[in-house]
Amino acid sequence: MRYGFPDLRQGFEVEADVVIIGSGAGGAVAALNLAEGGMRTVVLEAGPELRPEMMDKDAPRFMARYYWEGGLRAIGGSAQIPSLQGRCLGGSTVVNSAIMLRLPDWVREEWASGHHLEFLRGPGLEESYARIEARCHVTPTPEAVQGRRNRVTRAALAAVGMPGGPLPRAVKDCQGCADCLTGCAGGHKQSTDRSYLPDAERHGAQVYCSAEVERILVEGGRAVGVTGRVVDPLTKEVHRRFTVRAKRVVVAAGAAHTPVLLLESGLNPGGLVGATFHAHLGGGIIGMMEEPTDPFVGATQGWGAISSEIKGLKYEGLWAAQGLLLMRWGGLGAKFLERLHEIRHTAVIAQVYRAKVKGSVQRGIFGGPKMRLQIPRDEARVFVRGIRTAADALLKVGARFVMTGIHGAPEELRSFEESARLLELDVAPSHLPMTANHIFGSVPMSGDPRLGPVDPDGRLRGVEGVWVADASLFPSGSAVNPQATIMALSDLVTRKMLHRTIPTG
Ligand SMILES: Cc1cc2nc3c(=O)[nH]c(=O)nc-3n(C[C@H](O)[C@H](O)[C@H](O)COP(=O)(O)OP(=O)(O)OC[C@H]3O[C@@H](n4cnc5c(N)ncnc54)[C@H](O)[C@@H]3O)c2cc1C
Ligand code: SF4
Repeated sequence: MRYGFPDLRQGFEVEADVVIIGSGAGGAVAALNLAEGGMRTVVLEAGPELRPEMMDKDAPRFMARYYWEGGLRAIGGSAQIPSLQGRCLGGSTVVNSAIMLRLPDWVREEWASGHHLEFLRGPGLEESYARIEARCHVTPTPEAVQGRRNRVTRAALAAVGMPGGPLPRAVKDCQGCADCLTGCAGGHKQSTDRSYLPDAERHGAQVYCSAEVERILVEGGRAVGVTGRVVDPLTKEVHRRFTVRAKRVVVAAGAAHTPVLLLESGLNPGGLVGATFHAHLGGGIIGMMEEPTDPFVGATQGWGAISSEIKGLKYEGLWAAQGLLLMRWGGLGAKFLERLHEIRHTAVIAQVYRAKVKGSVQRGIFGGPKMRLQIPRDEARVFVRGIRTAADALLKVGARFVMTGIHGAPEELRSFEESARLLELDVAPSHLPMTANHIFGSVPMSGDPRLGPVDPDGRLRGVEGVWVADASLFPSGSAVNPQATIMALSDLVTRKMLHRTIPTG
């Protein structure tokens, strides 16, 4: 059963066995497991359900409506880093590129030994991945929808010794329209609103959209439910309030919102909630190729490779709506128009870097999350090394010039000498055009209560009946795209939850 804004204007009060906050990668997996396991399950999602006709190519408008903070959210600290998150049924899985990769062994071992998460060494994680991949139809991006832009990325990365491969994605019959950032109007992407929630509803889950949770209710050290407000999806006007009474609360609002909700509810075991925060530092460079690449044709992100020189760095072909990419184009007036004309010749290589930096998340002055990262200069230099390699890669396959967007570097790099000079720059993090759409680790899981507020079963310490099941659980960056691992951890946590009775008294 699904309720939307018009049904809920007057507020609501319901009772359930479990209430789940958030319907993205973590929340939706929890919803299916718990509903299928026989629990009366309520899912609360702050954003609206998105129908195909709401997914158009007008990216700035789409983002203003269906992303948190209108798509303008940023991580502060040593730089202002844009950090996107979907605010709709299915969460960020609706607007992402659907890349699904398993955790690399070295990260898995780091988490298992550094955070006493013994279960990561057993077969359970692999079994979860297999279940999720089958349900989400994860397959390597087919050659037929790579398009010229991804093929340029493939050739470029191979030219610098990183052949890589087609990215495995949760998509059925991708049409290669390059528009993943604004949903998937054709319904091919297997975001959780398609792959998980309908089955959860078939098992009795009730899904409430436009229902933003403000607080977890706790009485005598036990969770008893949540309360929040009904929000108009377009105007963001607040309507009536709602309460869901349940002895079990699963928090899956994403790594930015989950710690804020816990802190607002007075839940902060060991002072560790929001005290840590990790992100992959993303960046993209644009190559202007001699031949047309027709970049708006082909899977949004079809080809990728793990860096052979920098641990934790990964490259991917990328496209995003022109309205967004042009913000990074540089130049004004005649120069801008000239570039606009050349858009058919562009190729974009994105890099994602697991920087060794730990930040924090707190409640901001307007109630939303305030994320901070102080990126050390030596990490900024590693990021630039990655960009230099990507620039060389595009130059090797005939780019006329490459635009890095790095402050202090020439606007257009035309030779290997110029790209080598990037390494001589005295770069501060604020000089780098970074993004951070992979965020985690704000309420980490650890066997050691001094390192994480959540135990290896996903239970928040110090209170009965609260579980965490989203990206907040990661002890640190995953080094690859995180969605599959978020879903797998939620799968493991909520399967164990089914076997745990809540003590009475
Ligand atoms: C543009 C973009 C591209 C990406 N590409 C990829 C990719 O290709 N592969 C990959 O692995 N990862 C990708 N990611 C990252 C990935 O999508 C996220 O890491 C993942 O979805 C996070 O899962 P989550 O459950 O923690 O949060 P989300 O999926 O964001 O879900 C959290 C949900 O909680 C809701 N919520 C928040 N606060 C409240 C509240 N108070 N009350 C009720 N509901 C609330 C939100 O609206 C949201 O729906 C991308 C992210 C973005 C933004
Ligand atoms: S490229 Fe287009 S068809 Fe393929 S998953 Fe993305 S939005 Fe859907």
